[in-house]
Amino acid sequence: MVLASWELLWWCLNHAPASYVNLMTPNSTINERTRSSLELLYSISRELAAQLDLRELLQRILQLTLQAVGSAAGSILVIDESGQASEGAIAFEGKVHDHSMEQLRDTYEHGLAGWVVENRQAVLIEDTRKDKRWLRKPEEQDFEPGSAISVPLLAGEHVVGVLTLVRRQAGLFSQDDLALATAIADQAGIAVRNAQLFEETQSARQRYASLFEDNVDSILISDLEGNVTDANKRAESFLGYTIEQIGQLSVFSIHQPDDGQVPGDLTQLDPSQAISYDGLVRDSRGRMLPVEVHVKRMAIGAGSFIQWILRDISERLELAELRTDMTSMIFHDLRSPLGNIISSLEVLQSSFDDDDETIQSVLSIASRSSRRASRLVESLLDLDRLETNRAVLNKTEASIGALIAEAVDEIHPTAEARGQFLRMNLAPSLPAVSMDVDMIRRVLINLLENAVKYTSAGDHIDVSAELVDDQLEVSVRDNGPGISENDRDRIFDKFFRLSGESRPKGLGLGLAFCRLAVEAHGGRIWVDSEEGRGSTFKFTLPPS
Ligand code: ADP
Repeated sequence: MVLASWELLWWCLNHAPASYVNLMTPNSTINERTRSSLELLYSISRELAAQLDLRELLQRILQLTLQAVGSAAGSILVIDESGQASEGAIAFEGKVHDHSMEQLRDTYEHGLAGWVVENRQAVLIEDTRKDKRWLRKPEEQDFEPGSAISVPLLAGEHVVGVLTLVRRQAGLFSQDDLALATAIADQAGIAVRNAQLFEETQSARQRYASLFEDNVDSILISDLEGNVTDANKRAESFLGYTIEQIGQLSVFSIHQPDDGQVPGDLTQLDPSQAISYDGLVRDSRGRMLPVEVHVKRMAIGAGSFIQWILRDISERLELAELRTDMTSMIFHDLRSPLGNIISSLEVLQSSFDDDDETIQSVLSIASRSSRRASRLVESLLDLDRLETNRAVLNKTEASIGALIAEAVDEIHPTAEARGQFLRMNLAPSLPAVSMDVDMIRRVLINLLENAVKYTSAGDHIDVSAELVDDQLEVSVRDNGPGISENDRDRIFDKFFRLSGESRPKGLGLGLAFCRLAVEAHGGRIWVDSEEGRGSTFKFTLPPS
């Protein structure tokens, strides 16, 4: 930081004797002493401005001040933003010595330095023995200072340190010495602040650099046109390019961002927003690799850049695929034994005497339970296929009325056992609709099972079907606990369940299957509900 010319003038006017300083008159001459002080300050300010290493800067400030004021010993102390003494230097007989920060902290906490910081004021002590602010130290017996000057190092509003000079005898410092030390301290304060800021910036840079370089994810930095300006080591190995090659690339040549989320014009990217999505990136061999992308606009220096974090998710996807394959394998393997059990039970039921009520009732419980298990397996298999668009619908023209009757028949024994009443209300002349009968039957049974499950004994459950705007609309109404507005959409998500002690247990898969099945038919499913008064689940099927 170079001393501004007005500061030099101010210093001269204030500190040199008025009789020989008259800078305002053209013919005036500057007294020799003032000129040499000016030159001294100028050279000190230049030298300090060039020094950004805090330790070296402190030593230099101390040496220069000792030389300028003509003192043999002194110290300098830096105070950090939290008000703690963080760094310092001690000089004795004109040379900077090793010191312990403990020594310096002691004078800061109990001696003159602390007083100077607290009062933000320079001080000249004529006789240290007569001033309580001077801290006597037993270890200083061989050099016991007689007089001292101590000045705060100021950077704007902040006291960033204290500079103290001492002499062996009392009364050896003059007001001129104090003024000169103060003028140097003003320069030094700014230089110390600059060095502190430089150190902070350096360590922040180093932290970012190591985070960037050693990150387990690939990171690309691009300008706002998408040209890559930097990349880390992981990006090199993941993409198979050298750093130089990556530097020639445009992000868009290896990755097409998610259109809906990342604006085509990157200047439109909001700096406060971090965008994440799954996508693909092309490596040097042309392979498309799955990645989780995090995009963020950031300022580096005066420029604006985009940070692209590309997390390799191929392993995650492989595992998910493996899990899906295993799940479908298990379901497939359950499917045929269950089918065998159901058909065997049917044979048994028809071969036993109809009048034997006990046997018939046991057989019908066994057969209902196995049909239920089979429906669950079928729906889980469908859920899997519908989610990945692999489902093949086996559509035929069918009457929704007949299907509702079958579903009601299936649920009737359970509802009856719970003292609930199932009612059907079908509008006349409903048209046949093209549908996968088995799938829609399972949707109906699912909705009815839920209604039975979530409704108390003695309540009514109504199933109806009618034509609304050319669409077939089917509804299942109960007067159970209802569903809050917040949850009405979420209950159709996979594994979503409403919590609550009193709620019956379940997997949270039934409604997810219903939604996928109805949507695969081009229809829509939703719930109307009033909390505490019941729910009406509705779905539509488009006309054939
Ligand atoms: P499950 O019943 O196995 O938990 P579903 O996907 O069928 O899974 O239902 C999801 C959630 O929706 C249930 O946990 C339940 O809280 C709520 N729900 C479904 N049907 C009803 C209903 N008729 N009345 C009240 N809540 C219901």
